[in-house]
Amino acid sequence: MPDPAIDRSIIETLRANFRARLSSAASDRDLKALTDEFLSRKSGSVTALLKHLGSLPADAKREFGQLVNTLKGDIETALADRRAALDDTRAPAGAVDVTLPARELPMGRMHPLMRVRQQVEDIFTRMGYEILEGPEVEEDYYNFEALNMPPDHPARDMQDTLYLDAPIIGGTWGAHRGALPEAQVRAATLLRTHTSAMQIRYMKTFKPPVRILVPGRVYRRDNLDLTHTPMFQQFEALVVGEGITLADLKGTLEALVHELFGADAKVRLRPSFFPYTEPSAEVDISCRACGGSGCGVCKHTGWLEILGSGMVHPAVFEAVGYDPEKVTGFAFGTGIERMAMLKYGVDDIRLFYENDIRFLEQFPL
Ligand SMILES: [Zn+2]
Repeated sequence: MPDPAIDRSIIETLRANFRARLSSAASDRDLKALTDEFLSRKSGSVTALLKHLGSLPADAKREFGQLVNTLKGDIETALADRRAALDDTRAPAGAVDVTLPARELPMGRMHPLMRVRQQVEDIFTRMGYEILEGPEVEEDYYNFEALNMPPDHPARDMQDTLYLDAPIIGGTWGAHRGALPEAQVRAATLLRTHTSAMQIRYMKTFKPPVRILVPGRVYRRDNLDLTHTPMFQQFEALVVGEGITLADLKGTLEALVHELFGADAKVRLRPSFFPYTEPSAEVDISCRACGGSGCGVCKHTGWLEILGSGMVHPAVFEAVGYDPEKVTGFAFGTGIERMAMLKYGVDDIRLFYENDIRFLEQFPL
């Protein structure tokens, strides 16, 4: 027959064990393990004590039974309290958990063409150039005639022009209108085919020295393909002053190329023809893909053509009222798309205008 004093100590030992275990229980899983350990029907230690009751004499059974049932009730209550406390620390369904790390939001980024344009503007600003845009709807006079391309000039065929029906309202139209043949007058308002038109507007307004950069949109009657769009962007540089030489042009081009493409990029000038420059030169840089040894990108020449340039033609100076005996100058221009294609290795100009997020996301923030 068990001694009630010993039975009481068994119960108190069990209670102490339970309290110690409960104090370190911090999760649903811990509570489930505790419940199994003390209360499980098969192997719980409290259940084992209750099973033991049957072997006790009637009076001991009553006293011992009350003690075990009290312990069982205390354990159940303690487990329920702890479970409720754990639930309180959890956010209710649908609430915002402010302790979670933030979900990454998609970030907008600058368009690759705008990046190149801003980089070019930054380079020229540091070299002391003034930056201006000029009108996209232009007069034949500024776009062609004053740039040494009179109405019958064959060089006009080099550019498929988009003409407008409406004349420019409030423009400086009348002064040269009389000089144009009637057919040309009717078709003399156009979308500028190059930013060079702004050379004339600027020089007609300001005396030398001139140091300007003209970025902006230009338009040609081209169909969309890998390298053409009807609207694209150019930038054009013009420098005029006393004693400006071809060496100044080459030095400026090298500074630009080294900033845009890296200090190892080589620059080469090839003789060419433009009506508004003499001499004229196409400018190549050493191929960015192969470093100049020859590859598919550069058609195995080692060089990539990047822009057109030259010394300002005396006829242009005469058209704007500058004295070609006193001043000289250089000009160069190119497509911003072409720069971006070379810089980023893009082989299809249309990608710049399709706004496909998968394409745009490949450029750095
Ligand atoms: Zn190459």
